[in-house]
Amino acid sequence: MAAPRNNTTSQALYKNFIGGKWADADRTGEVINPCTETVIERVPLGTSSDLQQAIEAAHNAFSGWKSANAWQRSDLLRKVATLMREGAADLAAVTVAEAGKPLAEATGEWLVAAQFFDWYAEEGKRAGGHTLLANRNNKRMMVIHQPLGVTGIITAWNFPVWNLARAWAAALAAGCTIVAKPSEYTPLTAMQLMGLIEKAGIPPGVANLVLADADMVGQALLDHPAVRKIHFVGSTRVGKILMDGASRTHTRLSLELGGNAPCIILPDVDIPAVGAAAALAKSRNCGQVCVSPQRFLVHRSVYADFCTATAAALQQLRLGNGMDPATQLGPLINARQRDHVAATVQDSLRQGGTLLCGGQRPAHLPTGYFYEPTLVSDVEPHHALFRREIFGPVMSATPFDHPDEAIALANDTEYGLAAYLWTNDLKASVRISEALEFGIVGINEWAAHAVEAPFGGWKQSGQGYECGAEGLYEYLEKKLISTGV
Ligand code: ADP
Repeated sequence: MAAPRNNTTSQALYKNFIGGKWADADRTGEVINPCTETVIERVPLGTSSDLQQAIEAAHNAFSGWKSANAWQRSDLLRKVATLMREGAADLAAVTVAEAGKPLAEATGEWLVAAQFFDWYAEEGKRAGGHTLLANRNNKRMMVIHQPLGVTGIITAWNFPVWNLARAWAAALAAGCTIVAKPSEYTPLTAMQLMGLIEKAGIPPGVANLVLADADMVGQALLDHPAVRKIHFVGSTRVGKILMDGASRTHTRLSLELGGNAPCIILPDVDIPAVGAAAALAKSRNCGQVCVSPQRFLVHRSVYADFCTATAAALQQLRLGNGMDPATQLGPLINARQRDHVAATVQDSLRQGGTLLCGGQRPAHLPTGYFYEPTLVSDVEPHHALFRREIFGPVMSATPFDHPDEAIALANDTEYGLAAYLWTNDLKASVRISEALEFGIVGINEWAAHAVEAPFGGWKQSGQGYECGAEGLYEYLEKKLISTGV
């Protein structure tokens, strides 16, 4: 069955987009529905020459896009946002078909992605720079911001449109031109978004999309002198490859990499309610979220109650096809990811963890990359579930006695993206949140991110920021202009 094509784009095409033209390639790759395991589309896999053409097109379009002023760019970006909202229902169905997530989540993702285009349409108008008071009267100084130039944007599959929107919208608003490489697992969503960019009237060459061999794209973007920056969303493993390469070419990087979020639960909260909410939070996008809570660090006095409440809530979650409105949890993206989740759970059980629920593929869903929502308790710092990013519907629980012990456990990871804390104790919340070595701390909430707020990881979770004003400045250079008078 083919993925639903929507008719909101000017050309409903699943092709590469190079210099304003939809392009085929000699080779094609399959896009698989992770729920049905069937091929839903074949998409072109571009060559190195396609990529070079895209970079050249972006390079040629740069001077025009840069000198279109921020207000003109803003009008076009707002049109993209409007088209995204108008088409959200159809577009979300495409995302469900290739990513497996529930339709409501996919629809919400498209709507939030539209907000990024609106936000950066406005924020781009405010990147005006500033003047300085010089220490001599015969000098005037000002700092202006200018777009970096051609930017390569490589993104992961877990949020097929959100990952794109936050980078594409910021780069375009800043006046950069882009060469985007979406994930091979979710290219259809990216091609749909590119169709809307074309339909909105963004000039040819400003935004290009090339689905092609990932290693080749990474290397070619690094090697081309016109490419001034690569923004990457994906694994820490690939982030390190790009950092290695950039050390030779001086290409600027911003990296949004893995996470392994702790969640500290103090005894003064409503434990059954927090346990049930934690299960729901973990189930978002089947746990395939870099800020998904993974390591639940629970005060020993409420540990058993938390585990009971959470296991009960996990067992009630409905797995199934994302197009079924009753579905709360779709499949994982592919068999490799499901096998990684299963192996990590098995390793932790061998190491001494206790399985409280789940821990296997659901018997009633033999087709599709499903895995049961799982809770493993008695997880210790050396266990696989504590150390590895799980990226699946699996929670681990570890007891602690004193908040200092919880802080040490929370920080005992190479990752530093998001952390969570549940407490009504004001002083404890200030002390603990300030001691956590993470770029994002959610206190008494699970969605500690917003279009307007900086999103970025410490330690091996990345460098640079997405979202908010900080996300815009990732695509702007500063220039000091000092004038003698
Ligand atoms: P995941 O395991 O979550 O898919 P990856 O880091 O492998 O994460 O993939 C994220 C994105 O990076 C995808 O678009 C993928 O094609 C791309 N990618 C994979 N390997 C490389 C590489 N060597 N250089 C550049 N991009 C890569």
